[in-house]
Amino acid sequence: MPPKALLQIKDRLVVSCQASPGDPLDDTDAIRRIAGAAIAAGAAGLRLNSSEHIAAVRRDTDLPIIGIKKQYFDGQLRITPDFAAAAELATAGADIIALDCTHRPWTAGDPWQRIIERIHRELRLLVMADIATLGEALAAAAAGADIIGTTLNGYTEETRGNDAFDWSLLKELVRQTGRPIIAEGHISTPEEARRTLQSGAWSVVVGSAITRPGSITARFVHALASRSLDTPAIGVDIGGTSVKAGWVDRKGNVSLVTRLPTKAGEGRDSIAAVTEQVIETVLAAGGHAGLVPAGLGIASGGAINAREGTVFAATENLPGWAGFNLRAFAEDRFHLSTYVANDAHAAVLAELRFGLGSSLSDFVAITLGTGIGGGIVSGGKLLRGQHGFAGTLGHHTIRFDGRRCNCGRLGCLEAYVSTAALVREYGGQQDDAAMALEISRLALAGDPRALKAYSALAAYLAEGVANIFNILDPQAVVLSGGLIEGQAQFVAEVETRAAALLHFGAKRKPRILHSPAGQLAGLQGAAALVFYAEEDLA
Ligand SMILES: [Zn+2]
Repeated sequence: MPPKALLQIKDRLVVSCQASPGDPLDDTDAIRRIAGAAIAAGAAGLRLNSSEHIAAVRRDTDLPIIGIKKQYFDGQLRITPDFAAAAELATAGADIIALDCTHRPWTAGDPWQRIIERIHRELRLLVMADIATLGEALAAAAAGADIIGTTLNGYTEETRGNDAFDWSLLKELVRQTGRPIIAEGHISTPEEARRTLQSGAWSVVVGSAITRPGSITARFVHALASRSLDTPAIGVDIGGTSVKAGWVDRKGNVSLVTRLPTKAGEGRDSIAAVTEQVIETVLAAGGHAGLVPAGLGIASGGAINAREGTVFAATENLPGWAGFNLRAFAEDRFHLSTYVANDAHAAVLAELRFGLGSSLSDFVAITLGTGIGGGIVSGGKLLRGQHGFAGTLGHHTIRFDGRRCNCGRLGCLEAYVSTAALVREYGGQQDDAAMALEISRLALAGDPRALKAYSALAAYLAEGVANIFNILDPQAVVLSGGLIEGQAQFVAEVETRAAALLHFGAKRKPRILHSPAGQLAGLQGAAALVFYAEEDLA
């Protein structure tokens, strides 16, 4: 049975009431009043610095108090550096003594192992080991510390730069130390505090976010100052093969890109875990460069309900992905405004915001690769449709009773225009990305057989493009994708053939544009969601 002080704070909030030297609130009575307000609001325990503060607050409450004494040695902050300090805190009324159990060189008095032993033997109080790393926690547990606190993560030379709560450290502490873990440091929202408990923490200490009006004000001031028109966003693109993320500025320039294999075969949890890891990496890289994101945009395979931020439907490329609430997932973890779209739609938004579409109000974009991605922009807005399926151009029929498409239907455009279709027209044996790449190279070198294969695809695509012009009468159809990279002759042929098929085609001259949009279009378009949302709010 754990001691009473520990039971009282289990699964509950401990509030750290401290003030920096020189702060207008650095005053015993001010701290006493702040503690009183925290207790009245439901705090289950307090963390206090100095025997004066503890003695003053102890007169008002029986709640558990974690006592510390902050002292500076050679400019380095130490927490309760010697036994004499611990004894003072005990006399003042502390129930738990927290002390510095990091591996930093010890310059004064006994080593902390010895202080733990004396606190147990002479003061009969619990010891909370404030550590920065897993190794320090294991050493503290071995030396008899009763509780482990994450307090010093980010404050030692070894962990410098950790300016966010280290969730993986918490996970390992819970798994490996066999001690109750108190999460402390860098917890700034109720959601983060709740997540520490969900991750196995015994209790959570929150300080500055509650008790320091100075630092709370500074956060607001900083947020307002950084929200200028130059603020970049983070774009994420979740595909069946890889998850990519990067910083995207207001002109569409992408930097600090990170990419990891999706591990889609392992299902939803794995896709989510990889996504979280990629975003964490990109956020950290940007943090080091001093970047603060305006928000998070996520493009994903499957149909996306953009309003709810959920995956409405997904193919076997992303097994188990349907039903997943991407936005709630990301907002819960990263506390950034998050916007979600289908990956093909995101690529269209990238074209609209940063590419050839930026001078158009009505166009249809088609991306050609292993399949056909697409989207429709009307009046400067992307058409999403009721379930997020609008612009699924690959699955409109161009040959009644034609080839079987992988959607199950016959004669879809995608069954005739894709890397597999190119290999087939060339006379290749099976669909192979490497083979398609080779045919593309041969066509660029003027090889007649390769050019003939492209020409066959152009004839099919012209059927689809003519349909699009007949139905929507757009200003242009914008083609992009790896399949047609550099193939200017292909684009010109589609234009000529579509004009011949089109109702009043000669007069209308359907405009087909060739966009250089590449692999990062989905990520750029995802970030564009953030910029568009901001403008809608303005
Ligand atoms: Zn189909």
